[in-house]
Amino acid sequence: MSTSCIFCRIAAKEVPSGIVHEDAEVIAFRDLNPQAPTHLLVVPKRHVGNLDDARDGDARLLGALMLAAKTVAATAGLAGGYRVVCNCGQDGGQTVSHLHLHVLGGRPMSWPPG
Ligand code: 5GP
Ligand code: ZN
Repeated sequence: MSTSCIFCRIAAKEVPSGIVHEDAEVIAFRDLNPQAPTHLLVVPKRHVGNLDDARDGDARLLGALMLAAKTVAATAGLAGGYRVVCNCGQDGGQTVSHLHLHVLGGRPMSWPPG
């Protein structure tokens, strides 16, 4: 765990957040600045900086993140569909350097993204 990483601190429950899902490897909580009626973040409890930092040995963890995204979308009632986003690096728009999936729903999504 990195003590300076906000998502590590949320995963360690040092910082309160609206946790909606938790299992051995993954935690999901509400985004502080929601961009849709439902905007959740799915993060590994272990610090991984971003998708570029993931290794072959992280394949199971990456699968767990995607399956958790599906689970939290279902729990949030997003039966009409939703979007899962992983911003990676500066040009990808990543602002928090701890790997995370955004789960957005509750309104129609447009394409292409900005
Ligand atoms: P990124 O831009 O890195 O893909 O997404 C980071 C997300 O984390 C943003 O949507 C931002 O609103 C959210 N965020 C940043 N700090 C906090 C925080 O302290 N708590 C929560 N719940 N979300 C945060
Ligand atoms: Zn972290």
